[in-house]
Amino acid sequence: MAPRRRGKPPKHFADLTADERVASVTEMGEKAFRAKQLAAHYFTHYTSDPAEMTDLPKATRDQLATTMFPPLIRPTRRMEADGGTTVKTLWHLFDDAKVESVLMRYPHRTTLCVSSQAGCGMACPFCATGQLGLTRNLSTAEILEQVRDAFRALDRGEIPGGPARLNNLVFMGMGEPLANPRAVIETVKALVAPAPEGFGMSARNITVSTVGLVPAMRKLADLGIPVTLALSLHAPDDDLRSELVPINTRWSVDEAIDAARHYYEVTGRRVSIEYALIKDMNDHGWRADLLAEKLNARGRGWVHVNPIPLNPTPGSIWTASDRSVEDEFVARLRGHGIPTTIRDTRGSDIDGACGQLAAEEDDDE
Ligand code: SAH
Repeated sequence: MAPRRRGKPPKHFADLTADERVASVTEMGEKAFRAKQLAAHYFTHYTSDPAEMTDLPKATRDQLATTMFPPLIRPTRRMEADGGTTVKTLWHLFDDAKVESVLMRYPHRTTLCVSSQAGCGMACPFCATGQLGLTRNLSTAEILEQVRDAFRALDRGEIPGGPARLNNLVFMGMGEPLANPRAVIETVKALVAPAPEGFGMSARNITVSTVGLVPAMRKLADLGIPVTLALSLHAPDDDLRSELVPINTRWSVDEAIDAARHYYEVTGRRVSIEYALIKDMNDHGWRADLLAEKLNARGRGWVHVNPIPLNPTPGSIWTASDRSVEDEFVARLRGHGIPTTIRDTRGSDIDGACGQLAAEEDDDE
């Protein structure tokens, strides 16, 4: 196997602020308004292909596009499910690091699950990405390129159901987004910035999911962009959570829930608690009661729980809870007044969003 080149991905238009975009084009001897034209191509027509930039002079567009839009991510595999309305893409990055994204189309909305890191350093034993370890953080543009591709595919009618816009985005692909806060925050800014400087998405439709990196959760609260926060709790007691989410030995269950509650207080956004239901591991009735008790102790109406049937990873001894146990877990939470919805497991037949495809490729090498 050839040694991997390490280092930063090339700087890309999507890494720059609006001011920096103007500075870059003027440095190239172009008029400042070209920056706006490029932004419109990228954020409203979802293209970085000079051939499509017919409002720019031919020579200029080739030079601008080559400099400003270096290729950062290359699709090497696409898998479909649900009649083509769930599409998972494996991307190779400039240094051959691999990440994946999953686009899911429902009757009235579309959701993209993006990766923020190649691999992950959090080592949660039930998560396929957790077994890979961390390769590196993605740059802002490497994340935004996953988003642009989804907008493009929907806009061009490539997903069955006719042309559409991307409505929702979740940072639930590979990686721990709050371990790469700079790029994730810059990505969020570009997602919500109105066109043509950004994709014009609604902050509430963007979900940042975290293992519970408490200081970064507090920083995210202060950002002033009210994205939805999801906390991957998976257990209400420290003994078990430290096994399932090792970073719990640094920030405990109570500290993580306090930071989630703080997020709600600052932003007014209801927080999601993620809870992968693992058979005979964390699915006991008393754990549902303890979880509800800890959430209700911090107030009512600020949180909801998303139990997720475990998507078993290759080689793992763990499996999803029985249906009756899952029902009981949900019923107990609801009985304590906690809004609870089982998370959709779309794409589980193509190992959706759990790092399994990239893990498989690594095994092949
Ligand atoms: N690192 C972030 C985001 C990535 S994972 C986080 O942990 O929140 C997105 C969600 O999928 C998390 O709640 C994670 O715990 C969950 N998850 C990971 N592996 C899973 C599996 N095998 N089955 C079900 N959910 C899983």
